[in-house]
Amino acid sequence: MEKILNKKLYVVSGSSGVGKGTVLKGFMAKHPDFMLSISCTTRKPRDGEKDGVNYFFLTKEEFLKSVDEDKFLEWAEFAGNCYGTKKKYIQECLNNGMNVILEIETNGALQVKKKMPEAVLIFIAPPSLEELEHRLRGRHTEDEATIQRRLGEVKKELECAKLYDHIVINDEVEKAISLLEEIIAGEQAKC
Ligand code: 5GP
Repeated sequence: MEKILNKKLYVVSGSSGVGKGTVLKGFMAKHPDFMLSISCTTRKPRDGEKDGVNYFFLTKEEFLKSVDEDKFLEWAEFAGNCYGTKKKYIQECLNNGMNVILEIETNGALQVKKKMPEAVLIFIAPPSLEELEHRLRGRHTEDEATIQRRLGEVKKELECAKLYDHIVINDEVEKAISLLEEIIAGEQAKC
């Protein structure tokens, strides 16, 4: 994809339940010149989730058609569902002068880095695996089999964190938001 000066693409990953949604929400509230990309997924909407707001919810057939047509900047399977970011959507956001944040899992993040080396990869890590399991159960949004599958993904994801440009440990949300702000301000200063 074409590089657009002064506007950056940030990719934020972190294990399920690590609180990356909360950290990102805190960041976005303070930085209206940043936008959070909306991904496509084949996962069913959770209570309260809306099409075109949280995700673009696609059928497996629709998703695979876009894969065949090479419409994704990146895509991956995660916990039995497909997730992906449309190239055209990201290009339009950057063209409109927004700094864009993708909140995606590690396979997708590494695909983005390959295609757009100027993208900045930030990993949000839990203070410990035990703490993460505790948070995941506390959400009461997934059944036991899903929790076990997600914990398996977490261990793999932590291995990938070494390949990221920055790591933020989320032991306290406010501290993690400040750290994320510092990292992004440092990257923006390089533009
Ligand atoms: P959830 O089902 O909890 O919303 O998301 C599950 C995982 O999919 C999270 O790690 C989230 O970051 C990741 N994810 C969301 N959108 C995308 C995407 O467009 N591409 C990739 N590769 N992962 C995504």
